Amino acid sequence: MTQHSDIIVVGAGPAGLSFCRNLADTGLTITLIDPHTAEQLANAPFDGREIALTHPSKKIMQQLGIWQLVAEEDIHPLRQAKVINGSFDYALHFKTPKQDSKKQALDTLGYFISNYHIRRAAYQSVANQDNITWRLNEKVKTAFSDEKQATVILESGEQLTADLLIAADSRFSTIRRQMGITSDTYDFGRTVMVFRVEHELPSDHTAMECFFYGSTLALLPLSDHVTNCVVTIDSRKAQSLRELTDDELAAHIAKQLDYRFGAMKMASEVNEYPLAGVHARHFYSKRCALIGDAACGMHPVTAQGFNLGLQSQDILAKLIKRSKRLGWDISSDRLLREYNLRHQKNTRVIYHGTNAVVKLFTDDRLPARILRDGVLHVSNNLPPLKRMITRRLTG
Ligand SMILES: Cc1cc2nc3c(=O)[nH]c(=O)nc-3n(C[C@H](O)[C@H](O)[C@H](O)COP(=O)(O)OP(=O)(O)OC[C@H]3O[C@@H](n4cnc5c(N)ncnc54)[C@H](O)[C@@H]3O)c2cc1C
Repeated sequence: MTQHSDIIVVGAGPAGLSFCRNLADTGLTITLIDPHTAEQLANAPFDGREIALTHPSKKIMQQLGIWQLVAEEDIHPLRQAKVINGSFDYALHFKTPKQDSKKQALDTLGYFISNYHIRRAAYQSVANQDNITWRLNEKVKTAFSDEKQATVILESGEQLTADLLIAADSRFSTIRRQMGITSDTYDFGRTVMVFRVEHELPSDHTAMECFFYGSTLALLPLSDHVTNCVVTIDSRKAQSLRELTDDELAAHIAKQLDYRFGAMKMASEVNEYPLAGVHARHFYSKRCALIGDAACGMHPVTAQGFNLGLQSQDILAKLIKRSKRLGWDISSDRLLREYNLRHQKNTRVIYHGTNAVVKLFTDDRLPARILRDGVLHVSNNLPPLKRMITRRLTG
């Protein structure tokens, strides 16, 4: 007999897991499908990503009980951020404001937590949740829906149905395509290489986005003497970095930074990611909603991907909880349209704005270099713009 649930969630990444956690104690039955095993989810391996989290994201994670499951020493404060263009002569500078918009005192601009710690904590938060039926070590091959229900067919051939299908299956979402949802996709033709370095001189918990000519280097401070490096480079040139030994790569970064942090030593393996941004035109179709990267997969330069993913699951879970409370249909077009409208407001401007910034700041032709400088100077001298950007981080 076909197993039917109220909700099927495809993808046990941080977005899918947070969404399931949000629906604990609702009485809704959830089937969660992912190709990983329980052991792999519980012990997600280091993947090089350090996730910059905003204060509103911290609040959502606290409400879900996920923040509390990350050890204090694995949460790193971000005190200030600088953006440079070409050389270190001039920087756009963001400091921690004294208060957030609700007049609460602040001592950080945001936080860094390693992606594998978030994934482990998110899994731990739902591992024993009563209303979840786990279908691990399984992958969805096909999905479709009609007026009555949503259906998924697993690679094993088994068929499952639900009132509502949630796609949390990454920016390369199979479900999104199968449900006929079109998306704007942009392949930057670039590769991201991420790794940690140890350095002699302290970082003062200052993040730096260095738009050099030819490559981009983001520095994400974890402690005073350990920093995560995010190198974004034209994929054709990535091989030249891959061929470097650990010592050569650390020396290359130290030199690029003009020895501002003294000598450097590699402190982790190197992980690589392809750079493609995706924004779905709609975040829903009949009995189906997209959350996390499946809805909007961002370029990491503005560090917004998971922050938006958290918002997406939060908006949708609240709408579902309200419908359940009022005895309404949790998969109605009305509910899904409202989710779409609200979350598109969060993502559209950031997604297209980020892509525009990336295109400008990776264009090394002379007119673009001049414009890049101009943008930094204007931004630095426009307090309302700086306040608006800072508010996104601090709430
Ligand atoms: C280098 C780098 C740095 C980043 N830095 C930041 C940052 O500073 N701040 C920030 O907010 N974000 C950042 N991000 C983005 C962040 O990592 C992502 O937004 C987040 O991990 C996406 O979570 P997700 O759950 O939506 O998707 P994923 O983590 O991709 O999880 C998708 C899940 O779906 C499963 N799946 C896929 N297909 C199927 C299928 N057919 N059937 C069943 N299951 C399936 C997969 O196994 C996986 O478990 C960064 C990303 C990168 C690459």
